[in-house]
Amino acid sequence: VTETTYPAELHPDVAAFLRRPLGHVIAGRTVTDAAEQIDVLDPGTGSLLTRVPRGDAGTVDAAVRAAREAFDGPWSRLAPGERSKLMWRLADLLEQRADVFGQLETLDQGKPFGVARNGDVAVAVETLRYMAGWATKLTGETIPVGAPGTVHAYTKREPVGVVAQIVPWNFPLAMAAWKLAPALAAGCTCVLKPAEQTPLTAILLAELALEAGFPPGVVNVVLGYGHDVGDALVRHPGIDKVAFTGSTPVGKAIVRAAADDLKRVSLELGGKNSSIVMPDADLSTALPGIVQASFGNTGQVCTAPSRILVHADVAAEVGRELADAAARLRVGHGLADGTEIGPVVSERQRDAIEALVQEGVRAGGEILTGGGRHGEAGYFLQPTVVTGLGIDAPMVQQEIFGPVVNIVPFTSADEAIAMANRTRYGLTAQVWTRDVSTVQRFADGLDAGSVWVNGKSMDIALPFGGFKESGWGQEKGREGAELYTRTKTVVVTI
Ligand code: NAD
Repeated sequence: VTETTYPAELHPDVAAFLRRPLGHVIAGRTVTDAAEQIDVLDPGTGSLLTRVPRGDAGTVDAAVRAAREAFDGPWSRLAPGERSKLMWRLADLLEQRADVFGQLETLDQGKPFGVARNGDVAVAVETLRYMAGWATKLTGETIPVGAPGTVHAYTKREPVGVVAQIVPWNFPLAMAAWKLAPALAAGCTCVLKPAEQTPLTAILLAELALEAGFPPGVVNVVLGYGHDVGDALVRHPGIDKVAFTGSTPVGKAIVRAAADDLKRVSLELGGKNSSIVMPDADLSTALPGIVQASFGNTGQVCTAPSRILVHADVAAEVGRELADAAARLRVGHGLADGTEIGPVVSERQRDAIEALVQEGVRAGGEILTGGGRHGEAGYFLQPTVVTGLGIDAPMVQQEIFGPVVNIVPFTSADEAIAMANRTRYGLTAQVWTRDVSTVQRFADGLDAGSVWVNGKSMDIALPFGGFKESGWGQEKGREGAELYTRTKTVVVTI
């Protein structure tokens, strides 16, 4: 790390973090020993940042045992309000170190520093604070059965136990917080596996949890690849629930692996999201909104609209203006001043996105802007707008997960709804219109877990989850905390 030159000076704590040995966080200790190490690269330069140990089944076993001991021991003896206080303390510490977490996230994942610090870190802080509130509010019910005075029946919500949480590389810190916070609020203990590409902020967060006073073993982090550490975690008999965010094929593999002992599973998977522009839309808000939603985080967002469905009356204008706006986005290293779009996370992702674009062009797609790489070093792609392909073209059906959108024209609201629903996914859909009846038709007709009208919101208070092959269960909001509980029915015959 000391030999690489970055566009901004590294925070001393970031430089120190990258120089010291990093490891799994198990039972409150850093475990650095491993037969093999995994290289952690800066996608903005392609150079080595640091190395982390590659875990194996033994690592997973140690972490699950630690989580079980903490669950049966100190964690189960805390009042819900005490869990809240710990979560608030962790949120405060995280907020105080926003610069460090933000810079580390930029180096590891690529996103612009301003976004990492003021977006991702702020979201993680907010998530911890919001979910801390649920610790004291996950209540059961009393249910009237039998003649009065003969039966007392009620439900209670209990924590499900030890949970495995597996997350991807697009929002490493925010994803870790989205997983850990509701589980901790509900009284569970956790074994979190970050993506092999982006393990750094999860390690630092687990260390910070210890500093905040969480008992050792409540928050454990294991590092390694999905096919060995991830799979071992899902299959471990000591795990009571698996929460996974990632691709749909891996989600299906996890369901199969968890079926052996019928673990509970919640899944946040892929998406092929549409943003629908009606002819009466206010384009002065729709266009910047689409640019932000589609190209933010370099399009590596499960909710990013990669199909822009535009009414034929305004399709040419929207195509032209979207292409102009995309071409103006400043692509660069996340630590460079003024960067709006960082690199994609890895060489592999870059190659996969390029292949999809080339295939789209071969199928008759016309590139309005972009289509190529950007710069010499790092994994940069130009923001790309493609037109001329129908809704069933492979490029308009497959998840792209990069800075690439297709524009597809339609002629009626019904056709737009049918097009938006023509996908195996059902995560989100966005509509731009000023007509209140049209809003309701789309809200009813769109087969997606979240429908956004004239904007987008991922507030932690809002339930979030996918229909169809986009997942199982709703994270965030009250549903998100309840996902980590089980309901027990108690009937007392008097
Ligand atoms: P991925 O599914 O390959 O990997 C995600 C995580 O799963 C990583 O930690 C990986 O190590 C682990 N993993 C891989 N194989 C595993 C296995 N067999 N058993 C257990 N764990 C395993 O996904 P990715 O390419 O890293 O991430 C991109 C995908 O994530 C996209 O499809 C995107 O849509 C999806 N995503 C969804 C959401 C959502 O909330 N719905 C959010 C972000 C990303």
